[in-house]
Amino acid sequence: MKLLIGGEKTEAMSGVTFENRNPYNNELVCTVPKADARDFERAAELARQAQPAWAKTPIYLRSRILEKFVSLVRRDFEKIVDVICREGGKVITEARAELDTLCVVFTYYIQAANHLLGNTVPIDSEARTVGDVIFTIREPIGTFVSITPYNFPVELYAHKVAPCLITGNAVLIKPASDTPLSAYLLTELLWEAGVPGGVAQLVTGSGTVMGEWLKKTCLVDGVGFTGSTAVGKTLMEGGGAHLQHVFLELGGNDPYVVFDSADMDVAVSQAIGGRTWNAGQTCCANKRFLVQNNIRQAFTERLVQGLREVKMGDPMQEDTVVGPLINEQQAKEVISQIERTVAQGARCILGGTRDGAFVSPTVLVDVTSDMDVAKDMEIFGPVFPIIGFDTFEQAVEIANQTSYGLASGVITQDINTAMKFAKAVQAGTCVVNSSGNYRSAHQPFGGYKDTGIGREGTMHTLYEVTQEKTIVLKNVLAD
Ligand code: NAP
Repeated sequence: MKLLIGGEKTEAMSGVTFENRNPYNNELVCTVPKADARDFERAAELARQAQPAWAKTPIYLRSRILEKFVSLVRRDFEKIVDVICREGGKVITEARAELDTLCVVFTYYIQAANHLLGNTVPIDSEARTVGDVIFTIREPIGTFVSITPYNFPVELYAHKVAPCLITGNAVLIKPASDTPLSAYLLTELLWEAGVPGGVAQLVTGSGTVMGEWLKKTCLVDGVGFTGSTAVGKTLMEGGGAHLQHVFLELGGNDPYVVFDSADMDVAVSQAIGGRTWNAGQTCCANKRFLVQNNIRQAFTERLVQGLREVKMGDPMQEDTVVGPLINEQQAKEVISQIERTVAQGARCILGGTRDGAFVSPTVLVDVTSDMDVAKDMEIFGPVFPIIGFDTFEQAVEIANQTSYGLASGVITQDINTAMKFAKAVQAGTCVVNSSGNYRSAHQPFGGYKDTGIGREGTMHTLYEVTQEKTIVLKNVLAD
């Protein structure tokens, strides 16, 4: 791999590289340049130079270029899927689904941006504006830095890069160090499709170093970030110094609430599907399982039985459901979170074991609402902590006793209970009769409380990456 800066493939100025290895078998996937502040600054300067011409390129031409990009992704589809599997250990069926989502998301951003309309302001609302025409247009903000995490390196690339480019911004992409190669291939394809070399650039290297650079540089107008709440907060602080437009999609510890009015088949299958997707490394996965006490035993037995049938193993095999976590260190972290919960009084009745980067699906029972996992300890792995409750009010209280508020799921056949819960839960999304692990390209995806600032999803992101200008035609309608 190289850096993709200003239309050229280059080494980092330091000459330093690091390795990306397949978490399944430790094979070397690629060697990655470790950029530092000098590389970031140079890329940002080139972005500033290139962006005005891109903003002037009519949207119908920008649309054609990005449509061509989508067709190039389709051309190279299986090659990119292979990379997604190898760099991050993602199972192949999910890698295909994710790359397909990238194509859909790019297409929707192109369509939506062509409908990004301005407003006409009422002309006679005040005596002093009678006779004037007042209208607004939306313009790009300038140069964006887009920082993505490892868990959805391609889908989140789409949600960050497509809105920036279609609206005429330049974008400097910083992928997670664990999953740099898919972003590299995609950025190469943007260039091949005709996006100018200074308009879409890719830099790799330490996120921490980039964060320090962002605090100092005056060359970046906006930062789109998906990742942990801890890092999001530092970016917000740093962005404040230069009034960068920062929008943040951060962590979650989402509740999945099963009432005794639930269809048990739905409750169990959605719980498993939502939590084993991407081996549990999903921001909006169901992470806390709140189950009404009179059905808790039955739910737990069915869950354990279902999880025993889930196939864990080689991500490249079509029938594998659970692959490895992103690396061994992350797997150790998940095991230590399981042990911490057990030390606080929970019992582990399934799994709880690690093999390299694999963590087996794990069920924790006797989890109480005062334990860390029931509040803010987000576990990024296939772990099912089950917390009992008796009343609707208790369920809402436990669901909301977290600093996060990304998504939620409520399982019940009683529409009144479902709607009451959806209104009461402090979360950006509530899915009825499924896991909150749900995302459409158009929905306003994002969270309450410490889960971030802003919303992502076609129209919503287009507003985040553009600014509104008012144009007044003074007295043009005067008598
Ligand atoms: P992370 O440590 O915050 O890393 C995410 C990205 O930020 C990576 O590219 C990382 O680069 C970079 N980074 C790290 N420190 C930085 C700094 N000081 N300044 C600027 N960039 C920095 O997150 P993660 O552990 O990889 O991802 C998991 C978290 O993301 C979970 O909390 C999950 O819930 C959240 N997430 C949220 C959403 C959402 O839409 N709300 C979606 C997916 C994930 P390096 O890789 O080089 O460190």
